Amino acid sequence: MSKPTRYVYEFAEGSREMADLLGGKGAGLAEMTRLGLPVPPGFTVTTEACKVYLTTGEEPPELGIEEARALAVLERAMGRTLGAPDDPLLVSVRSGARFSMPGMMETVLDIGLNDASVTGLAKASGQERFAWDSYRRLIQMFGHTVMGVEGDLFEQAVAEHRTQRGTRDDHGLDAGELAHLTDEFKSIIRRETGEDFPQNPVDQLQRAVRAVFESWNGERARLYRHREHIPDDLGTAVNVQAMVFGNLGSDSGTGVAFTRDPSTGARGTYGDYLPDAQGEDVVAGVRDAVPLDELKALDPRSYVELGDHLRTLENHYRDLCDVEFTIERGRLWILQTRVGKRTAAAAFHIAHDLREEQTIDADEALARVDGAALTRLMFPRFETTPADVPLAHGVPASPGAAVGVVVFDSAEAQRRSAAGQDTILVRRETTPDDLPGMIAAQAVLTSRGGKTSHAAVVARGMGRVCVCGAESLTVDPAARRFTTDAGAVVREGDTVSVDGTAGTVHLGALPLTASDVGRALETGASTGSLTEAVLDALAHADSVRRLEVRANADTPEDAARARRLGARGIGLCRTEHMFLGDRRTLVEAMILARDDTGRERALEALLPLQRADFIGILEAMDGLPVTIRLIDPPLHEFLPDRTELAVRLAGATHPDVHDRELLDTVERMHEQNPMLGLRGVRLGLAVPGLMAMQVRAIAEAVVHRLREGGRPRAEIMIPLVGTVEELRLARAEAERVLAEVVAESGEFLDCPVGTMIELPRAALTAGRIAEAADFFSFGTNDLTQTTWGLSRDDAEASFFPLYLDKGIFSVSPFETIDQEGVGRLVEWAVEAGRAVNSRLETGVCGEHGGDPESIHFFHRAGLDYVSCSPFRIPAARLEAGRAALADTATSDSR
Ligand code: ADP
Ligand code: MG
Ligand code: MG
Repeated sequence: MSKPTRYVYEFAEGSREMADLLGGKGAGLAEMTRLGLPVPPGFTVTTEACKVYLTTGEEPPELGIEEARALAVLERAMGRTLGAPDDPLLVSVRSGARFSMPGMMETVLDIGLNDASVTGLAKASGQERFAWDSYRRLIQMFGHTVMGVEGDLFEQAVAEHRTQRGTRDDHGLDAGELAHLTDEFKSIIRRETGEDFPQNPVDQLQRAVRAVFESWNGERARLYRHREHIPDDLGTAVNVQAMVFGNLGSDSGTGVAFTRDPSTGARGTYGDYLPDAQGEDVVAGVRDAVPLDELKALDPRSYVELGDHLRTLENHYRDLCDVEFTIERGRLWILQTRVGKRTAAAAFHIAHDLREEQTIDADEALARVDGAALTRLMFPRFETTPADVPLAHGVPASPGAAVGVVVFDSAEAQRRSAAGQDTILVRRETTPDDLPGMIAAQAVLTSRGGKTSHAAVVARGMGRVCVCGAESLTVDPAARRFTTDAGAVVREGDTVSVDGTAGTVHLGALPLTASDVGRALETGASTGSLTEAVLDALAHADSVRRLEVRANADTPEDAARARRLGARGIGLCRTEHMFLGDRRTLVEAMILARDDTGRERALEALLPLQRADFIGILEAMDGLPVTIRLIDPPLHEFLPDRTELAVRLAGATHPDVHDRELLDTVERMHEQNPMLGLRGVRLGLAVPGLMAMQVRAIAEAVVHRLREGGRPRAEIMIPLVGTVEELRLARAEAERVLAEVVAESGEFLDCPVGTMIELPRAALTAGRIAEAADFFSFGTNDLTQTTWGLSRDDAEASFFPLYLDKGIFSVSPFETIDQEGVGRLVEWAVEAGRAVNSRLETGVCGEHGGDPESIHFFHRAGLDYVSCSPFRIPAARLEAGRAALADTATSDSR
């Protein structure tokens, strides 16, 4: 018999393995409790309970009883009763999903306070002001989060009291005023909801738990999930935890600490501390925190103890951890831990250092970094001169270089970025409501808050450039401008450069230069600890990966660059651009040719040019395979635009004969749907001599290279094949030409002939096609278009945003391979092809070849190589290595 589902676990009953059920925060609290760290006791309501609530609209019937039982245990442990009038137990109700979603969902503190227990708290703590401050915080948070009252209404009321008092922050308000404020808050709630703030503590608790469940579907939580590709159906757990107070005076406080620096990865504890404050004040960045180091002087005992706990956690999790902690009258409490988010540079540094410290091995170090982080490190940086005086200095919270126009709110950032403009979002501080703007903008700049402020944490998580706490700036969103200490005024629409590595802001657009990592990847020489960490990780990836990585490159320059970046050949060398520019007239002549001789003459003129193209590329990739795709797009793409021609002819007094002829041809060749028209192999078979010219150019280029003492390895690739018959005919033609060149030159030529698999029919009949192919190269861009029956450009401009928003796609199938559909075709074709031809070589040359998740899939599908743009090669190498490790890990545990 299966055990009945449990919906509530005490912290002491859980563990880190239970993160699916308890959420990341709950699992962390449980793990710390087991390790003996000082965690205020409590219990976790599971994600399962949330899922039931979200699907049925009601809590599971057992939940109330289980909660009551867990609460009774908690009350006994604390020796106090929730909301009791004399010395009340207060609790926090905290959201916590499987994956950390900082600030995206709700938390309510100080549950259990009411008109009676507030006096009890005042007496028990000996601090009347503190008690009333806690009560007004509860009513405010509860009113907003649980009862749905506009948060600004409360803020306005607080602001009025501040002005009356002539004080700038809440500390200037005394107990009497705060008591007054609670009354005002209560009437705001009554006015806005027609309901009273609930006095019953158990009511408060249950409603808060429900509100946390509901916050899973809040707008900003959904937006964040879509961005981070977190599934929508996981639900959140809810942690109910005894309150501890950091706002009981100067011997109390709260902070955030990291076992290593999350922005650089440097060893040594790191963090922010805010004396005499509650936890949410640090994250909100409403008051400026002091560096954690200062705690050493303020409270040496807690400082040492905190250091011990951080070491315990890092040794236990064997990774960078961050914690939230609170000191209540000299007593340290740990309120949260998790393996911390970090910048790309920190990820490489930390993995490298942990391996050197022998905490983890090389395989695990590789698993700790990823291709996206590597790509970020390759972004260019600013090239500054001593003459570039920054407008302001702030905290370098998330590294990188960004140039854009200044905007002051989310809406403007979204509007301008939709219009293709790069923007810099400037705020005093950010709140979760600024998320859409942070996504749209290139960088975030704030005048308040430190490395652990909302802006910093979220920007780091998204890889956005961020400078925060630039205190010399006065940000005036209403007037749409900010001013500097020196008196400079920067208005909305002005261009600035934000250097998230140095923590500076500059007026205008600074020039960019290659990053150190980008440079080191090309030269292979490390120039510092970061480049060393990156090169080490890549070297290990190269040693474990099975997938080869090739480049998509059409020019000798790109080929050479790709090779420096580690490409082992070219997987896709397109030939169409070789017909543009000056050569357009030759192509026109070929298309317009009235007879074979005319066409042959045009093709003959193209031949030496095309041969020279191939010689350069084969030279750059000497000794490595170069897969050359014969011309693919419809020929009319090489002719002038129809409307343009028509207009030109209509306007001319003496219509040009050539133009007339061109227009006729353009009209004759016009296709309703060129993507599905006369292109690819169809073109090669339909236009006499075209394919022969290209094959001859390749063959002669190979001969040329052989005679120069090179080792050319050209492969001929036929695009858009749908049936083996097409490939047989094309292949026969290619072999005929190859044999001619062999006879003429006396050189031995070994040029494999293969095909793109980019039509569903090709994939489905791969067994037949493999009879005539030496290799398959999956053109996953076209294969995705033809499998889904959509045109990428049209779809991306029209319904893709809607589909992403509705969750029909969690990511565009053009970015990450659609494993279920397109991926299934790939797997099928590989298997069927190999069954017929065991030496069949298989690779991918679509955009997906450079996408981390897709690379893992291609590894599992057993392909031989992926091919991608030169700049994506390092990341592809890294991911191919990680895929090989992930594969052994799963087969070991089977
Ligand atoms: P988030 O996930 O947004 O960080 P948390 O649940 O961690 O939300 O809570 C918000 C803030 O409230 C944090 O700073 C946290 O430390 C503080 N907090 C939560 N529970 C307690 C508690 N029991 N006692 C004191 N502070 C708490
Ligand atoms: Mg937290
Ligand atoms: Mg194609």
